[in-house]
Amino acid sequence: MLYTGSSIHELRERTKQQTIELQEALDVNKKLATTDELTGLYNRRYFMDKLAMQKALSERNKADFVICYCDLDNFKQINDTFGHHTGDIVLQKFSQILKSLIREVDFAARFGGEEFVCLLVDTDIKNAKKVTERIRISLANYNFNDIAPSLHATVSIGITNFKQFNTIQETLMNADNRMYLAKKYGRNKVIMADEAELKAQMKTAKVVI
Ligand code: GH3
Ligand code: MG
Ligand code: MG
Repeated sequence: MLYTGSSIHELRERTKQQTIELQEALDVNKKLATTDELTGLYNRRYFMDKLAMQKALSERNKADFVICYCDLDNFKQINDTFGHHTGDIVLQKFSQILKSLIREVDFAARFGGEEFVCLLVDTDIKNAKKVTERIRISLANYNFNDIAPSLHATVSIGITNFKQFNTIQETLMNADNRMYLAKKYGRNKVIMADEAELKAQMKTAKVVI
């Protein structure tokens, strides 16, 4: 087959355009595979990959990290009272709060439903408590007046540092257990201890929860 100079140029241009379109399609696919559609946060699978990477990194550089397990309080009631669409807006608002109060190097993900997780890197539990308290207070104080005047939302959070267990599964499970403790002791709380420890602290009046 005989190609003229201009048809070769045209062919090259078309190939270039197809490469750009393919790259764009791959980018869209990658975003869909790693993020949660409603909130734009990372999804569970991507977050678990990040945790595995963080574990490897932490074993090499000895730095600790903290997993925060967040569950919105009485969310079923929010849906039942204000409708599912309003519930979705609360999920989006909480996601924005999470993202805005963690650092660029940290990761936040929607784990499913009204459950969210954060990975706070190169930090200890005390600092993580400060960050998560800010997140908790920010949601509790958020004014949803423009959506529904009587709408308020709160979150219960459990936090655990990796070095306490040295496995992802146990750290995650412990943060989840502590989140349930936050529910048990009244919701709208951040808990960074196990129940026995918490009870002992309450006895000596070191903490009021
Ligand atoms: P608790 O304080 O004990 O966590 O109570 P809860 O009502 O938050 O917990 P429960 O597990 O009973 O209810 C969770 C609700 O979250 C029920 C479900 O319909 C709702 N939910 C899950 N995913 C979505 C979503 O994508 N959008 C909306 N609007 N609601 C959702
Ligand atoms: Mg839940
Ligand atoms: Mg809930």
